[in-house]
Amino acid sequence: MPECNVCFHHCDLKEGQLGLCLARRGTATEVVCDNYGQVTGLALDPIEKKPLYHFHPHSYILSVGSYGCNLRCPFCQNSEISYSDTVKMMAKKEASARQTRYIEPDVLAGLAYEERSNGNIGVAFTYNEPLVGYEYVRDVAVEVKKLGMHTVLVTNGTANAQVEEELLPVIDAMNVDLKAFNDTFYDRLIGGSRQMTMDFITRAAEYGCHVEVTCLIIPGENDSPDEMQKLASYLGELGARCGVDIPLHITRFFPRFHMTDRGPTDVGVIYALCDVARRHLKYVHAGNV
Ligand code: SF4
Repeated sequence: MPECNVCFHHCDLKEGQLGLCLARRGTATEVVCDNYGQVTGLALDPIEKKPLYHFHPHSYILSVGSYGCNLRCPFCQNSEISYSDTVKMMAKKEASARQTRYIEPDVLAGLAYEERSNGNIGVAFTYNEPLVGYEYVRDVAVEVKKLGMHTVLVTNGTANAQVEEELLPVIDAMNVDLKAFNDTFYDRLIGGSRQMTMDFITRAAEYGCHVEVTCLIIPGENDSPDEMQKLASYLGELGARCGVDIPLHITRFFPRFHMTDRGPTDVGVIYALCDVARRHLKYVHAGNV
């Protein structure tokens, strides 16, 4: 049975079977990218919305998303394209499912080029988790680079080294979610791998890709000053080793999707954690406050 090695789940997939991410499918001999070119969202966004605050500030970027995700965050802000029942219907190509629009890589790059007069600098892969369909990211990015424009990846950073090494030559900047600095959060709450995410961030920074990191603060889960101190220290040391300042976005949680048992993060907590992070990092930004 073919095995997918894009992420730590290592799904064994029978012919026709979808992976946990709902974006990849087994055939008789291999695992293929089933959401390739299937676009669910396309919009010209301010680059700060990714969020990237230190990469071509005040510009716009054509942002594209498909469907599927390899994590199961109960607080997901994009559940309608990540892993809800709607996504299962989309992945199974049910007639009643939300329709996607197929866009060839060179066509998408051409659309980005046409938007230059509106301040567009390139293409951002975002909305759902782009790495579960990394082949499309790679192919579009190659076309975008041919046109002299920029590429941005907004990701949970959960993919293996081989996938990342294929993408790094054609990705200019990324924002990676480092969702917590404790393994209980990663293992039990979202079904992820903190180590794989940190390895992803480390490789990107060492390669010389512009990296910014986001951490969503959820009351009672990842909001201790001690944890923020460790997270910021890791990023500070990595940045120092690579000769860069890695910006950190500390953002406020609002109840949604399956996590409605608590209120929004206290704004004072966000500012206090920003102060902790500033002991290690030059650029720390409070988000959603
Ligand atoms: S990318 Fe998808 S199919 Fe591949 S191992 Fe991860 S969850 Fe499974």
